[in-house]
Amino acid sequence: MAHHLDLHLWRGAPQNLDPDRPVQILVNQGYVVGFSPKTLQPAWSAYCVAHAEAAVDYRRPLHYYTDVRLDPALRLSNRTFGRIGNIPLNVGHMTPNEVINRQYGRLAQMETFLMSNMSPQYEVLNQGVWAKLEQAIRGVQTEPGADYAWVIVGPVFGDDPPHVSRDGGKLVPVPEAYFALVVDPVRYPYETPANVKLDCFLIPQTAPRSSDPDAYPSTREEIERRTKLRFFDSWARTYVLGQESDDTARLTMQADAPSRLMRAIEVRRETWKKEFDVPAAAQPVASTIEGLIADLQEEARLTSEQVLGEHRQTTREERIRAETLQHTLSWLMRAKEITSDRSGADKPGGQAPAPADPVIAPQPPAGIGAAPASTGANIITYKIVNDAGDRLRNGARAACNFWNRFILPRYSIVIRLGLFTHLGNTIARAYEPYESDGVRYGQVEFNTRYLLDFTADQIAGTIIHEIGHTLGIGWDNWSKMFDRKTGRFTADAIASLAALANMEVERDGGPGTALAHWDEALFDRELMTGYKDPGEHVLPITIDVMEAFGHDVAERLAGQTSLEELMQGIASMVFSRQDEVRKIDLDYFKETPLREVVPHDATQLAQFVAEQE
Ligand SMILES: [Zn+2]
Repeated sequence: MAHHLDLHLWRGAPQNLDPDRPVQILVNQGYVVGFSPKTLQPAWSAYCVAHAEAAVDYRRPLHYYTDVRLDPALRLSNRTFGRIGNIPLNVGHMTPNEVINRQYGRLAQMETFLMSNMSPQYEVLNQGVWAKLEQAIRGVQTEPGADYAWVIVGPVFGDDPPHVSRDGGKLVPVPEAYFALVVDPVRYPYETPANVKLDCFLIPQTAPRSSDPDAYPSTREEIERRTKLRFFDSWARTYVLGQESDDTARLTMQADAPSRLMRAIEVRRETWKKEFDVPAAAQPVASTIEGLIADLQEEARLTSEQVLGEHRQTTREERIRAETLQHTLSWLMRAKEITSDRSGADKPGGQAPAPADPVIAPQPPAGIGAAPASTGANIITYKIVNDAGDRLRNGARAACNFWNRFILPRYSIVIRLGLFTHLGNTIARAYEPYESDGVRYGQVEFNTRYLLDFTADQIAGTIIHEIGHTLGIGWDNWSKMFDRKTGRFTADAIASLAALANMEVERDGGPGTALAHWDEALFDRELMTGYKDPGEHVLPITIDVMEAFGHDVAERLAGQTSLEELMQGIASMVFSRQDEVRKIDLDYFKETPLREVVPHDATQLAQFVAEQE
């Protein structure tokens, strides 16, 4: 069927620019896949379409099919992809079923159910924005003079993607996003790039159901960079397509009507609002400890049911998983007790604070001169090790903007951000800072199972807290400034910063939490207490104390200010100090011990440390 290649592909198969990722081309009746033996899923999947809303729509097959054309080591069986952390994964068609069965019939439809056409796609994307995009593509109309529309889609991976394990140890990496290129040749001769419109999308796994595909525009260049593929290569690069960077071409295209795909999106927008905007409660992701416990117990139950049903022994993976579940469950039970203790009034050492009230009145910083003029020599910046749909990058940008607004640091800071996947309610974990060449590096990893649920402000807030540590809270002079037994600051410290008289350092919570934060019992929702709370605020002292670590304060807070208020507009602030960033070695990395987990908990930290060894 090699002759089908040119029928399904616009200007031939994408060129593979990644020598470490071979691509095996599989030709089907209705579409073509460039299968990647490295990721055990398509690098790309391509088809052509026009007016595929015809009445015929064959019943969905009941199975997925193993693709026996592949080497047995590369074949996936037709089991589902399960979950990654707490996030449900769908077996995601790259070339969709409906668009093929309506054009080519039953057998072609079944071929779209080959596992070689599947990628582990977040359920929220598969049944949300991705489904909308597929609908709109199917709705591209036949028009006089216009050719078919041609579609190429596929996964985009982060640097160090999380994996799901399948078929006794085959590791399938989970993409962080998906690309789609839709070519719309509107006029004859179709060989002329100026007669072709191109819509490009890059849609993160975490895209909310309620968003529409055109909220994720991209360019051919960006997709080529992220996928190490090159599209429509037989065209000279000087030609410019649709949305791309050449202004003249862009203006020419804008003068025209929008592409058939964009019109199909527009027509559906209102219907989508009704169909896809489901209340958050319908999403099966636990947000309470009780909910997590119920979820994990359910998972344990399902696994043992499956093992019993299949009359077999548990696999090694399943045993390890069961142990983790047991461990996590017992830990969560304990966490539940601690949470209920913390809300009680019988805590030793004093009465519990009223939850929302600030314990001390905000007051202007005393004993400190005016902020010195900016030297601008150092900067707080970030390095993304891996990400899910730019969520960490956006959080990091906001967090760095936050600190760069208030502090002129004594040394530059690079906060390294990445992902990990772990059961249990740890949101993030941080490692001990390290230094090189006058730059201090702090490393933070976020749990993928929570990233989906987190608002941009929550992610940024967590990063702000961790940068607070990297700047010195819990380190440096900090430990010399107070009495470890009472948590009260010394006379010397108070002499240089009067507001410290009102502060106390946390003494509970074990390593990582104790002696490195403001006291939770007194300052509950402050940013730099050891526990993350909803509706956090920042006290002026959290900024002012930075002077004790040798940083200059560029701007002070007049009083207690909500983090939400401080975050407003901060994410969109333009980062204008790129020159300084370029001088910093962003990639310098040194392995350091784990230091804290968020929410802070000594038991969980000990567990992670044990796993590390
Ligand atoms: Zn902390």
